[in-house]
Amino acid sequence: MKELKGKAVSDAIKEDIKKKLPAVETMLGRKPKLVIVRCGERPEDLAYERNAIRRIRETGMEAESCVFPEDISDNVFLRAFGELNSDKRVDGILLMRPLPKQLNEGFIISCIDSEKDLDGVSPVNAAGLFLGIDGFAPCTAQAVMELLSFYKIGLEGKNVVVIGRSNVVGKPLSMMLLRENATVTICHSRTKDLEKITKKADILITAIGRPRFITSDHIKRSAVVIDVGINTDKDGKLCGDVDYEDCKLKASAITPVPGGVGAVTTAVLAKHLLLAANRDLL
Ligand code: NAP
Repeated sequence: MKELKGKAVSDAIKEDIKKKLPAVETMLGRKPKLVIVRCGERPEDLAYERNAIRRIRETGMEAESCVFPEDISDNVFLRAFGELNSDKRVDGILLMRPLPKQLNEGFIISCIDSEKDLDGVSPVNAAGLFLGIDGFAPCTAQAVMELLSFYKIGLEGKNVVVIGRSNVVGKPLSMMLLRENATVTICHSRTKDLEKITKKADILITAIGRPRFITSDHIKRSAVVIDVGINTDKDGKLCGDVDYEDCKLKASAITPVPGGVGAVTTAVLAKHLLLAANRDLL
């Protein structure tokens, strides 16, 4: 069994950024800049933000956060957000979601300049993904594609089963796999006979959010298993959707959690920032 570690993938992405960055900096006359927009102090947002800012800075680009109080009104938020959106010194925006409930998240998402929308949440980028037009895909979905490509796991004609149909992972990922000529099956909580379907997968991708839900009974021998899940088990231990220990002898390759897809996501964010600063690289 081959362990598909994310670090090698993110190192390769970062190397590529470092090679291209000097030319982009010369063109811009400054470093590409990301702004992370956050409302309130949710611990999981703070942890993600700290990590993302550190990773972006490691590549030589700029990253900062723009923090609003959790009880900010829709009007005040929209005005401040509009300024960021039109600020020419800001190349990328990442919005920490869910937003507080008094804010109209659907409308705010539709306002993000699609060229700064590094996590592909705007309707323009979502439609682009559906239509096969260049733009930004959600970083996690893109991270899975980068990982498959780095480890030379071919997709053409393969039976790929994706469990999860969220807008950030399952749905966009399925479109991207389809574009690479995989035969894609999407499963979700109402899917009947899940095991029967997942057992047919050459490549099984899980984005469920349930600790160690997928066992060796769900996979066929020599399947490739990609675990997007990041969960905490009842003992407070970080784990994926896949029971790694149970599946490792049956799968031909498998991503660990932590250290798999999650390790690639912020590298993809950095890659998207560089592309946003110079669309010619797209
Ligand atoms: P989500 O919005 O909650 O979606 C979960 C999906 O799993 C839904 O489509 C749901 O089906 C499906 N599901 C739930 N229980 C199921 C079951 N018993 N059988 C089959 N399908 C089931 O979650 P998400 O935002 O996509 O995230 C999924 C996981 O990925 C989480 O663990 C999250 O922490 C992780 N994640 C990781 C990264 C990363 O960088 N690696 C980034 C984002 C998310 P329904 O649609 O029918 O409800």
